[in-house]
Amino acid sequence: MSETFTSVSQEEAGLRERARLTFDLDADICVIGAGLAGLSIALEAARLGASVAVLEGRHIGWNASGNQLGTVMPGFALPLADLIERIGLEDARELWALSKEGAEFVRANATEENMPGIGVSNGVLEVSNVDAGDRLISRLQMLNEDFDTEVEGWQVDRVRDVLKTDHYFHGVHYPKAFQVDGRKYVHGLAALARRAGARIFEDTPVVSIDHSGIRKRIVTPSARLRATHIVLAGNIHLGAPLKRLSETLLPVSRYAGITAPLGERVHDIIAFKGSVMDSDGVDHFRIVDGDRLMWESPETTWAARPQRFAGAVKRRIRNIFPELGNVEIADMFGGATGQTVHGMPQIGQLRKGLWVASGFGRQGMNTSAMAGQLIARSILWGDERWRLFSPFELVWAGGATGRVAGQLVGIWGRASSAAAGSLARYREKVRVKDREREARLAEANRAAGTGPRRLHPGHPPVRPAPPRERAPEASRAGEEEPVSQ
Ligand SMILES: Cc1cc2nc3c(=O)[nH]c(=O)nc-3n(C[C@H](O)[C@H](O)[C@H](O)COP(=O)(O)OP(=O)(O)OC[C@H]3O[C@@H](n4cnc5c(N)ncnc54)[C@H](O)[C@@H]3O)c2cc1C
Repeated sequence: MSETFTSVSQEEAGLRERARLTFDLDADICVIGAGLAGLSIALEAARLGASVAVLEGRHIGWNASGNQLGTVMPGFALPLADLIERIGLEDARELWALSKEGAEFVRANATEENMPGIGVSNGVLEVSNVDAGDRLISRLQMLNEDFDTEVEGWQVDRVRDVLKTDHYFHGVHYPKAFQVDGRKYVHGLAALARRAGARIFEDTPVVSIDHSGIRKRIVTPSARLRATHIVLAGNIHLGAPLKRLSETLLPVSRYAGITAPLGERVHDIIAFKGSVMDSDGVDHFRIVDGDRLMWESPETTWAARPQRFAGAVKRRIRNIFPELGNVEIADMFGGATGQTVHGMPQIGQLRKGLWVASGFGRQGMNTSAMAGQLIARSILWGDERWRLFSPFELVWAGGATGRVAGQLVGIWGRASSAAAGSLARYREKVRVKDREREARLAEANRAAGTGPRRLHPGHPPVRPAPPRERAPEASRAGEEEPVSQ
């Protein structure tokens, strides 16, 4: 087992005494889930001065966030060309810029001083499984010129100089992308959030929420919490608090292994120092702890013990780098990511004070950090940039049938961006109900001669909203909320 890559997470997850919520509590913001998303939001909001309570059903980084490779890239799971096609160049550029800010958030926090042993190193190489040099040139130009992202195109020879395999052809080098010890990072985030004043309670599953009203109620088995804002950052395991939200995510479990020490020869065969990922999203690897190889490859749409896939990882390494021979797998780990049907994360306000941050898929480091910044800054500063996610509605992922289809899609290596069905109507129903309630209230006030009710001094009077004519799918940033349950 790799010392460097397991010691802190074991110690923090296992030996540190976990605080459970056993008393009733009030906070400005209640975050459900202590993964990368929940902790990024907690850190940012606590730094901006909010009182924050994080409720985690198991322990910090229990799922994907504590079992990932720590590669930090700009962008999203949805390929850039598809993003532009979907929302146009201008908005795609803004979203891309936000994703870069997310990566910078990670870089700024993942310092040796903040997180001892976090091991930041620069450079990520994306390699092509097919000889597609022509396509590469236009992509490079677009990234450099339109998206202000430093990238270099590598010819086949240069790729094969640093990776001794004939599986890979051209490459795109991101010199400013970087990697950290992914399994340490989530615990480092938790420590920083605590230092900023956030309170984190583990072994505290949220069993229900009541999100109506200004002060929302959150119920756990041993205590209740009241908060003005709830952030749902539970990924695919959210469950009871808002089951229909979990159903908009396709769970994809991913597995990775770390080999036993391979000696100096590994550097002759893999001379690239940063992370390598292939353009089909199948393999993702890098050298860790001097001479071990950390390799992520198999994925399933059901959860399994990572150890079951040690043989598959071993075969994959032998297949790509036969010169390494039969490597020994010393450690396996994995977790379930939540994949949306459209490939973009779910970031935004479902209804007043109820926020969602999930669906980060296989690129969760920068995107969950971005969600943390967007949501905390919207709550505390009124920054409305999360509305750029408006075009990406919550779409049902198809339940059990969806999962089977997802596995088939995965097998054939194609990403699905076709919507299985929309929950947008549900959101519209919620809005209609809200409007009806407000209209009844205004009517009652008129009848009583009290005029429109004020929520508190300085708050504008509550008046019935004017009827809306456009369907939610046609919503534009700044006019409608982007997502619904
Ligand atoms: C093997 C592997 C390698 C990866 N490598 C990379 C990589 O190199 N770079 C990258 O960018 N991304 C990577 N990812 C993806 C990344 O790990 C995820 O996108 C990210 O961790 C998702 O974070 P999250 O906070 O949304 O979810 P999670 O990590 O699932 O956290 C959600 C938390 O919420 C808790 N929770 C759920 N429901 C409740 C409830 N009702 N009450 C209380 N708590 C609740 C859960 O217990 C869980 O701890 C990888 C993933 C895997 C599995």
